[in-house]
Amino acid sequence: MKQEEKVDFRLNREYCKACGICTALCPKKAISADDEGKPSMINEEACIMCRLCELRCPDFAIRIGRMQ
Ligand code: SF4
Ligand code: SF4
Repeated sequence: MKQEEKVDFRLNREYCKACGICTALCPKKAISADDEGKPSMINEEACIMCRLCELRCPDFAIRIGRMQ
C-alpha cells in the first residue's frame, strides 16, 4: 500500500462469529483478533488489499476497500 492510501476496513460485528478464518488467512498479518476473537485492522500499511479476508469470510462480515 502506498502511504497516502488508507484502508477502509469494516466489520459487521453482528454477522461475525469469531471463527478466526480471516485472521488466519491474511498473508500479511494486517488483521488480528480482538478480545472477542473478531478481527480488527492492526497494520494498515502491511495490507496489500488482496481482499482474502472479505472473500473468505463465510458470514460476509467484512467489507474492505480504500478510503477516497
Ligand atoms: S472470517 Fe468472518 S466470521 Fe470469521 S472471524 Fe473473520 S469476520 Fe468473523
Ligand atoms: S485485504 Fe488481504 S492483506 Fe489486507 S487485511 Fe485482508 S487478507 Fe489481509
